[in-house]
Amino acid sequence: MPTYEYKCRKCSFTFEKFQKMTDEPVKTCPKCGGEVEKLISAGAGIIFKGSGFYSTDYRSESYKKKEREESGSSIKEVKKEKSSSKTESKSK
Ligand SMILES: [Zn+2]
Repeated sequence: MPTYEYKCRKCSFTFEKFQKMTDEPVKTCPKCGGEVEKLISAGAGIIFKGSGFYSTDYRSESYKKKEREESGSSIKEVKKEKSSSKTESKSK
């Protein structure tokens, strides 16, 4: 069942209501009895998707650059440590 969000135009009180598609929409505010407008909850999902995609896309580019730099130096360090420990154990 879809959730419908309503907002009162008088007192800006927002509330959600589980309703069937066939149910009549809420027209009056349960708080003050003023006129309410229907907020489309599905639209919020689309906005969330769009902004999420945008932020991850922006992140990935800087992350990739950092990852490449960090992984490159860390691999070198690991190799150095390994080879030095090997020679140490050999000389001992
Ligand atoms: Zn109200």
